[in-house]
This record gives sequence, C-alpha cells and structure tokens, in this order.
Amino acid sequence: MDQVVAIRPPARGIPRAGAQNLRDLDPADLAAWLAQHSPEPPPRHRADQLFRWLHQRRAPDFAVMSDLPAGERTRLTGLASLARLHLDAVLRSHDGTRKLRLRTAEGAALESVLIPNEDRGYTQCVSSQIGCALTCRFCATASLGFQRNLATWEIVDQVYQAQDLLEREAIAEGAEYPGRITNLVFMGMGEPLHNYNQVKRAVQLLTHAHGAAIAGRRITISSSGLVPAIERFARDELALEVGLAISLNATTDAVRDEVMPINTRWNIAALLAAVRLVPQHRRRFVTFEYVLLADVNDSDADAQRLLDLVGDMRCQVNVIPFNPHPHAPYRRPSSTRVQRFVHRCRALGLLVYLRTPRGDDIGAACGQLALESGNA
Ligand code: SAH
Repeated sequence: MDQVVAIRPPARGIPRAGAQNLRDLDPADLAAWLAQHSPEPPPRHRADQLFRWLHQRRAPDFAVMSDLPAGERTRLTGLASLARLHLDAVLRSHDGTRKLRLRTAEGAALESVLIPNEDRGYTQCVSSQIGCALTCRFCATASLGFQRNLATWEIVDQVYQAQDLLEREAIAEGAEYPGRITNLVFMGMGEPLHNYNQVKRAVQLLTHAHGAAIAGRRITISSSGLVPAIERFARDELALEVGLAISLNATTDAVRDEVMPINTRWNIAALLAAVRLVPQHRRRFVTFEYVLLADVNDSDADAQRLLDLVGDMRCQVNVIPFNPHPHAPYRRPSSTRVQRFVHRCRALGLLVYLRTPRGDDIGAACGQLALESGNA
C-alpha cells in the first residue's frame, strides 16, 4: 500500500508562556527554580510546601498558601504562573460518566472523561495532545489533525479539575467524602507516546506521595503502536511503574494497514517484537485493545489469528465494540456477533474483557472525543 504516513513525532511545540508555570515542576525542580529566583537561599522545606499546595490541595493562587510568609506570596505572584485549564462544560451521561470539556490558554478544547468504577472510585481517561498526528480511520480525534502536545501541567490539571468537580459534587449532595480518582488511562485525545516527556513527567507528578498519590500500577498508557517509542518505554523506568496498552485492532497487516495507517510504517510483527521488550512484572499484563469493526476484524478466523499473535504473551485483550461517529466508515457488529467473537477468543484460551461503551450518549466513549468540542 503506497499511502503517505506521518511518522515523525509532531514538532509543533507547546506555546511559550511568559512566566514559568510552577505546576509543571516536581519538588526537585521547584527547589532549583526557587534557588534561582530568590534573593537569598529559600528555606529547605519551601519547595515541598509549594508542591503540596499545588498538587495535594490544588491551590488556585499564592494568596491561599497560609504557611508562606505574606511577602513571599506577593513576590512569587509577580514571578511565576499558576495558570490552570479553563473548565468549559461538564456533560453527564445516564451511566454516571462525565465528560469534562476544558480549554487551554489559547482557546483550544480538550476532553477528559471520568468513569465510575464499581466501588465509588473513578477511572479518568486523560488526553495527551490536542488532536492527533495519527490517522486511525475509526477514531474521531484523528479527524482533527494534530494541533499540539499538551504541557505537563495541562495533563495533570485534567485530573485536578476532575477532583475539584468531585469535591463540588460531594458538597452539593451532602456526601461525607468526595469520589476518588483511583485509576488513570492515557486513552483520551492524542498519542501519549508522541508526547513522551510530558506524559512521563505528568505520571511522576500524579504518583508523587505529596501530590495526588495515584498508584502507578493503576495507570495505563495506551499507544497506537509507535515502535521506537515503545522500545524507549521498554528501557525506561516508566515501564516498571505504569502499564502499557497497545491498540492492535486487527490480526492481519492488510486490515491493520487499512484501519491504522501507522501499520504501513511498523507492521504487526515489528509492533509485537517491540512489545515483547517491555519488562513483564508480576503485577501487570500488557493489554491489547481490539476495536471490533463489523465485517472487518470480527470473524472466527480473526479470533484464531489473535491467538496466534499474542497467545504466548502474558496479556489481556480488551474488546471494544466500535463506537460509531460520522467520520468513520465502519459499523459496530451486532451484539450476537460481539459475543461470538469474545466467546471464541475465550474458548481458545485468551484472557478477554468486553468493554461496554460508557458515556456514548455524551460523546465520551472511546474514539468519540473532540467530536463537538469546537476544534474541528
Ligand atoms: N492514541 C492512543 C490512545 C487513544 S485511543 C491509542 O491509539 O491507543 C484509545 C482507544 O480507543 C484505542 O484503543 C482505540 O483503538 C480506541 N478507539 C478509537 N476510536 C474508537 C471508536 N470509534 N470506537 C471504539 N474504540 C475506539
């Protein structure tokens, strides 16, 4: 197939803000920044104090930081930025899913989805880019094209905005405790491995014990299959901390070339070879996502080929029935057909979970992000 595929990492940078946004920095970088911007050496605990204010208490500004000297608060206000995303709208689904529509300083829209778990906790699906450079034919975000990478603070602020929302909801309902975000998946808008450094730093901030303290083992980064970035991930300490999901979505190169043109650059064999480099650890399996498309990848023969491809790996397969939207030329298979595929895979010995669409009535399901967010 002689299709032209964008394979270079997106080069467009994050717009340069006037002042350093301190929400971007871990305690060590905060200490270095403070040392550089203070007339005399700041107290040793100052960076940790600031970090807790920003990441544990989600302070809106320096004024509320009651254990910092008043003069220091005023001085820092003039020096650094504490900008946050702007929460535009919250859409609620009948199944409890909420979609947060957020805006960046330059007015670009991004989306983040909160999905209730069985136990009062929530899984948040976060975005890593505005738009996406990949051209997966079943995905709505692809139709936006690539706009830019998100900064670290823009990634973590999605979680903090969602925590703020849960807190406001708890107060409104008179609940004793707000809901807690326990799990994160980088499955929102964008290709997280195209924005590797920012995503990695966001994970470091979000897992920090003095911040949101989300457990690394409850974080999953999902990739469409950027082989060099997966190889980098496999060598990185990040792979010991968070899980990896791969959007496989087909069992032959012919079909994968068609639905995910990135496959014409790195085919299934190259992709799986890279995934095999990721260190296996007791706690977690690699996940393969498999968007089920009617008459494209949902046959018995596909189930058999899926087993041949990944059957020897410690992995789980998440089957996601396609969520239709106007930009994609595909259909969701009937529920009988979906069940048949799942049962077939299980009978062959694969560990398979069927993902029922959540929040599809508010355009928050997989592959629907950015449909109506005003970016297009
Ligand atoms: N770029 C990353 C993360 C975003 S996509 C990746 O490709 O993994 C998150 C998941 O949603 C992927 O597994 C993708 O295959 C799936 N997805 C995309 N569009 C979909 C759609 N219309 N219906 C169902 N799943 C979809």
